[in-house]
Amino acid sequence: MISINSNLHETDPDLSKLINQENLRQETHLELIASENFTSKAVMEAQGSVLTNKYAEGLPNKRYYGGCENIDAIEQIAISRAKKLFNAPWVNVQPHSGAQANFAVFLALLKPGDTILGMDLSHGGHLTHGSPVNVSGKWFKAVHYGVDEKTEMLNMEKVREIAIQSQPKLIICGYSAYPRTIDFKAFRSIADEVGAYLLADMAHIAGLVASGVHPSPIPYCDVVTTTTHKTLRGPRGGLILCRDEEFGKRFDKAVFPGNQGGPLEHVIAAKAVAFGEALQESFISYSRQVITNSKALAKRIQERGITVVSKGTDNHIVLLDLRSIEMTGKKADSLISEINITANKNTVPFDPESPFVTSGLRLGTAALTTRGFNEKAFIEIADVISDCLLNPEDLSTKKKCKERVVSLCNRFPLYSKN
Ligand SMILES: *Cc1c(COP(=O)(O)O)cnc(C)c1O
Repeated sequence: MISINSNLHETDPDLSKLINQENLRQETHLELIASENFTSKAVMEAQGSVLTNKYAEGLPNKRYYGGCENIDAIEQIAISRAKKLFNAPWVNVQPHSGAQANFAVFLALLKPGDTILGMDLSHGGHLTHGSPVNVSGKWFKAVHYGVDEKTEMLNMEKVREIAIQSQPKLIICGYSAYPRTIDFKAFRSIADEVGAYLLADMAHIAGLVASGVHPSPIPYCDVVTTTTHKTLRGPRGGLILCRDEEFGKRFDKAVFPGNQGGPLEHVIAAKAVAFGEALQESFISYSRQVITNSKALAKRIQERGITVVSKGTDNHIVLLDLRSIEMTGKKADSLISEINITANKNTVPFDPESPFVTSGLRLGTAALTTRGFNEKAFIEIADVISDCLLNPEDLSTKKKCKERVVSLCNRFPLYSKN
């Protein structure tokens, strides 16, 4: 008989075992996926709470269901903290994910057939910025800009030319694989020149923006979207922010009833916990360390003879260009996974390979910095990755690399056992 009071390992041993195995995987592997992080136990506790039982369609104090007094207080705390963290007069904490937040913005500002301008996916953009396989590319006329072939960085004069030529209704900045600082002010002046709305999707860099180690898009953009689970280190979810309370109401309506039903209040509570953590001084030191680590990783990888896209990094991302060692991203990805390092193959700008093969490997420092890794540890990671990729056929190198990964994981434990 199933009782609602039984523990998971009693009611569902299979699922319980898999969760324990995943816990062990996270402990024993080096997590370098740039879009991942490790939340605090407090964040997970809020997300795993009875709040998952509650329906709360609407906004605080304007709900369609009864019994929302605690939910209202919780969501209001999430809203106030997000406003303070990003210095934004208006926010909506309900989007289920980054993609959902972007869709709400499109729904609020665009009509099918309108032109949108975003970064090309293969240069570091996101699927939701006009890819033909996503609604943003199916319902809108998507035009793309890329990075400069020589510098592999944005050339704002080129972006301006494309904007003038294509006359978009919406310009999107903010990326998934761009290691450099974004000049939001320059994007604002282009948007003004062509009469477009400007959206910054700061999904990757939100934690760095909150800490002031990357410039904020809020003063320059009509609307800003983000995820809460990348450098911001909260639960998996989305967020919309803007500098104008009146204008913000459009996005409230686009989130609900526009494209979502009941909000995930357990996730919103976890977001509130994460925003509270990000408001503390220690989060600023964390974000600074993320960038220090990233620069150390990029420097050492290049010293070892592997090219880094744009020759370095300003944020948490280091993108390897493996054409320099005549290897594909797919091969590199599988080689490092054999030594318990987790990252992802990624296209590099002007990639000759298909998106499934690619010539790049994307690394990020946010997750391991949470585990306590410093720049010295990241130099060792750079050496382990270089040894592995430069000697792909050598079994004794592979064995040594894996031992060094195990030792690094033991030196920086993830969660305490209590
Ligand atoms: C990760 C990401 C998203 C999507 O977030 P999901 O929560 O996975 O939907 C959107 N935009 C950018 C730039 C991203 O990097």
